[in-house]
Amino acid sequence: MAKTIQAIRGMRDILPDEAPLWRRLEATVAAVLDSYGYQQVRMPIVEMTELFKRSIGEVTDIVEKEMYTFADRNGDSLTLRPEGTAGCVRAALENGLLHNQTQRLWYQGPMFRHERPQKGRYRQFHQIGVETFGMAGPDIDLETILITARLWKALGLTGLELQLNTLGTADERKAYRERLVAYLAAHQEDLDEDSRRRLHSNPLRVLDSKNPAMAELVAGAPSLMEHLGDDSRAHFQAICDGLTAAGVAYVINPRLVRGLDYYSRTVFEWVTDQLGAQGTVCAGGRFDGLVEQLGGRGTPAMGFAMGVERLLALREEQQLVEPVTQADVYLVLVGDAAAAAGLTLAEQLRDQLPTLRLLSHCGGGSFKSQFKRADRSGAAFALVLGDEELANGVVAVKPLRDDSEQIQVAQAELAGVLKDKLAG
Ligand code: ATP
Ligand code: MG
Repeated sequence: MAKTIQAIRGMRDILPDEAPLWRRLEATVAAVLDSYGYQQVRMPIVEMTELFKRSIGEVTDIVEKEMYTFADRNGDSLTLRPEGTAGCVRAALENGLLHNQTQRLWYQGPMFRHERPQKGRYRQFHQIGVETFGMAGPDIDLETILITARLWKALGLTGLELQLNTLGTADERKAYRERLVAYLAAHQEDLDEDSRRRLHSNPLRVLDSKNPAMAELVAGAPSLMEHLGDDSRAHFQAICDGLTAAGVAYVINPRLVRGLDYYSRTVFEWVTDQLGAQGTVCAGGRFDGLVEQLGGRGTPAMGFAMGVERLLALREEQQLVEPVTQADVYLVLVGDAAAAAGLTLAEQLRDQLPTLRLLSHCGGGSFKSQFKRADRSGAAFALVLGDEELANGVVAVKPLRDDSEQIQVAQAELAGVLKDKLAG
């Protein structure tokens, strides 16, 4: 036999026992986003490499070492998208969606990052993201954060903590940056290798260091909050007040700087301690400079992205996952005549009950072997059609999940009976 080929490390198959959980989560999220008037966009998975270099920034983990970049046949450098914001802005610009109008957009789909695979961290993973454009005030920041809070409620998730910070404007950050660099430079010998490299290229990222050995140094760093101007302060305060008014708890985390360069003012994350080291399930913020950075007219923007694998893992951790069955009813067909008549019956039932999940037996076999499959499908009832039922124009309806009696139902009444039984 030929050697089998394996999936790529860090890229998982989502198998039939899991796929329904994905669909349910996606449907719940879509319904919440619909309820706020957000509109879906679907972008390509591959973009010009330049797009990510210009938006995410050259000195970031993503661009430095995580991108799947390759040369197209014509020599263009292309990249599998590591995140959705850049592509969303590109699409909005290219299609004129930012012309004198506001937008509330969302997307979902696979993202690719060449990271070390571990629980909650994959090389192909999935995000659902939201991006809004054209709104500069704290009201839209608040709305997007409230959406996330509502999403957790809709998904039944509890125990998530909202962490909030502000990065101020680009100018405010510039002044702060100088003070931070001075502080870090004075502690050169305590910096790890990454931080030393970032000291001049991207010093704010040092605050984001995941290295525990850096924690003390980071804790003593000057605070960005103290470098904010009145407008940034008021903007932040309005969000805090709004959250309090809406009854959404938050903590201010001055070390929250987010990995990406393009954020301004508001940044936030939702974190849990129930998923080990990969505890951030959603992250977002304001990125007022990005549209201009990508060649558009200056456009305020605010958004977030959540990691679908982590949300699903958290649902499992919190025992919110209901068992998934393959079908509601399993049609057992014994004998050639029944097999032929069963096809017609099944199609009739599907006409009458479009949401019925009916699994029709194929391939013949004994009652016993067919019932075994019926049981494995998780169906609540077996519908049995053999020579005898065929002769009498009936179908036997046999409950598979309890001890109640099997009944005979006239074929013409079957749809009505199933509807009642499955509703109950
Ligand atoms: P982390 O700090 O965990 O690396 P990040 O800051 O790189 O996250 P973002 O770019 O903000 O993550 O992406 C938003 C969300 O996407 C994260 O909060 C997380 O839930 C999810 N995510 C990011 N990278 C991965 C990955 N490699 N595997 C699974 N989920 C991921
Ligand atoms: Mg990361």
